[in-house]
Amino acid sequence: MRHPERLPHPSSPPEPFEIIAIKYAHLGNRHPGENFILADPHEFASDLDYFVWVLRRSDRTYLIDTGFAQEAANRRGRNLLRNPADALPLIGLDSTTITDVILTHLHYDHAGNLDRFPNARFHLQDRDMSYATGRCMCHQTLRAPFDLTDILMMVRHVFAGKAIFHDGDAELAPGLTLHRVGGHSAGLQIARVWTKRGWVVVASDASHLYANFQQRRPFPVACGIAEMLEGYNTLYQLADSPDHIVPGHDPLVMKYYPAVSPELDGIAVRLDQT
Ligand SMILES: [Zn+2]
Ligand SMILES: [Zn+2]
Repeated sequence: MRHPERLPHPSSPPEPFEIIAIKYAHLGNRHPGENFILADPHEFASDLDYFVWVLRRSDRTYLIDTGFAQEAANRRGRNLLRNPADALPLIGLDSTTITDVILTHLHYDHAGNLDRFPNARFHLQDRDMSYATGRCMCHQTLRAPFDLTDILMMVRHVFAGKAIFHDGDAELAPGLTLHRVGGHSAGLQIARVWTKRGWVVVASDASHLYANFQQRRPFPVACGIAEMLEGYNTLYQLADSPDHIVPGHDPLVMKYYPAVSPELDGIAVRLDQT
């Protein structure tokens, strides 16, 4: 497979980020058609893990996505292992002291718990806010992955001056850029993060599983299949290698990367290490 030309490393590299993925929920017993459009009903159907991601270095800390809480887990039949806001102390953080939250998109499993971060600004793409509050939400199929309470809370944050909107690509800090890819949710954004092992891409739902981008097989929750497929190209373009792309829901992530500590085995892994 030919990949688009990759970007060069910075000439004077910034301090690398550490990236921690915290697993907070799990979903099993899936059908292949829930993971791939036009799936063979006899093929393997991966479970889904649910994550939030922390980026940190000496000068700043970012939280990518905020997960969901028990009420949404009960209503949707998900197994919530730990509320992400309550899990942050496991890695020495506290939800009340987080200052910057990057929301990859507003689906319920990425933008719940928005009331748990009183001192945060929320980074979001223009297009996801308009998607989640506009005419597309008249369609039950497109509305299903959103929870109204999350959207209302995000509107509150907008009115409180706590939203930072981005339109397309944005540099939040040297070594951290956001890129809108759309496809899955209209304003879905991914993060490109400078680490000791080079540029890592936190793909979030630009690719739920490794197989989605590796085999170019779209995930069925979509608002634009063409953009989703183009998004797979963008992942390859922004990451230093295919091994630098981290899908948003693949249980293999917990197998491929080392635990933050022996106590956090099965809970939190370091994506900046291999
Ligand atoms: Zn999603
Ligand atoms: Zn998701």
